[in-house]
Amino acid sequence: MAQPAWQEPDPLTVESAPVPEYGSGSLADLLPTLVAGQGVPGFTAAIPELTPADRNCVFLIDGLGWEQIKAHPDEAPFLHSLLPTSRGGTGRPITAGFPATTATSLASVGTGLPPGAHGLPGYSARNPETGELMNQLRWKPWTSPKAWQPYPTVFTRADAAGVRTAQVSAPAFEVTPLTKVALSGGSFLGRLSGEERMDTAAERLAAGDRSLVYTYYSEVDGKGHRFGVDSDAWRGQLMYVDGLARRLAEQLPPRSALYITADHGMIDIPFDEQSRIDFDEDWELRAGVALLAGEGRARHVYAVPGAESDVLTVWREVLGEQFWVASRDEAIAGGWFGPTIDERVYGRIGDVVAAAHDDVAITASVQEPHESAMVGLHGSMTPVEQLVPLLEVRS
Ligand SMILES: [Zn+2]
Repeated sequence: MAQPAWQEPDPLTVESAPVPEYGSGSLADLLPTLVAGQGVPGFTAAIPELTPADRNCVFLIDGLGWEQIKAHPDEAPFLHSLLPTSRGGTGRPITAGFPATTATSLASVGTGLPPGAHGLPGYSARNPETGELMNQLRWKPWTSPKAWQPYPTVFTRADAAGVRTAQVSAPAFEVTPLTKVALSGGSFLGRLSGEERMDTAAERLAAGDRSLVYTYYSEVDGKGHRFGVDSDAWRGQLMYVDGLARRLAEQLPPRSALYITADHGMIDIPFDEQSRIDFDEDWELRAGVALLAGEGRARHVYAVPGAESDVLTVWREVLGEQFWVASRDEAIAGGWFGPTIDERVYGRIGDVVAAAHDDVAITASVQEPHESAMVGLHGSMTPVEQLVPLLEVRS
């Protein structure tokens, strides 16, 4: 029966959110699967369809979602040739994890743990010890990395088990706390250009009978934020990174597997009041809120003590048809951050968590002028943000 025209659509239920495939097909499952195949003790092959290799290389392209590769065969002919629809391609999508954002995803990759365990639950989050907002990407204000993320990385454990392990990335990342908590172990090799990174990654891969090499490129994400994923600048980056991936694939030493993946996809959000809801100008959304964290499409909202249920009610009422709006306990019970949550991480999750379903964002023009001006955004659980490639090349 058709709905009467006057009836409001129902709010999105927490249960209807397409939760990441933690434990079988998420970024956190990748390195554990690879090192399990190399015989490193204490890991299991969570993604069973990956065939073990003696030498494993992961090339992580920041911001390049699965849907974007599929949509751009002309700009990314090499990556496209690895998709399952093409002859011989074995690529598949895996899920990034929630929120689909760089700090969270890199920690999931490097620790092999979901966000509920590694404890980087977004672009920014509240530090329950201080009550302050902490930016996880820039690590501001400074917080003890070891206390924030105490688990050893997969790199560290693989290195200790005799696997030659290296990260090849921008020189500036060598000393950052995010690298320390997420991507340390073995040797770090700073290389400025993308080409040098590919060449060095291939060399390091050949340096051991068993090796694990991680390499990274950031500018697809950078251009997407600034100009959008429907821009020439973004398409130019895609063409460039397609060439990088081919360059690395062509240099693989024997007995190697190369996996090309990403930390999240991206979506362009129109610049109008309906699509960009400005928290700083919205008295209804601000009522009872002590702190806003996360990013436009994945918000942590911390209430003034005692106002938690009022904030949840209002956010659900105002945004519930366009966002999945959950209380902290609902989001945790729904498995948004993984199957379990560590005690130290609990208070970092918002009293209310809002994840965008439609092409919308909650911006904050005063608190976050830079982020609010970005064209391309990411963070939520929609396929365009959440699905990342797992493309495979073997030698
Ligand atoms: Zn980004």
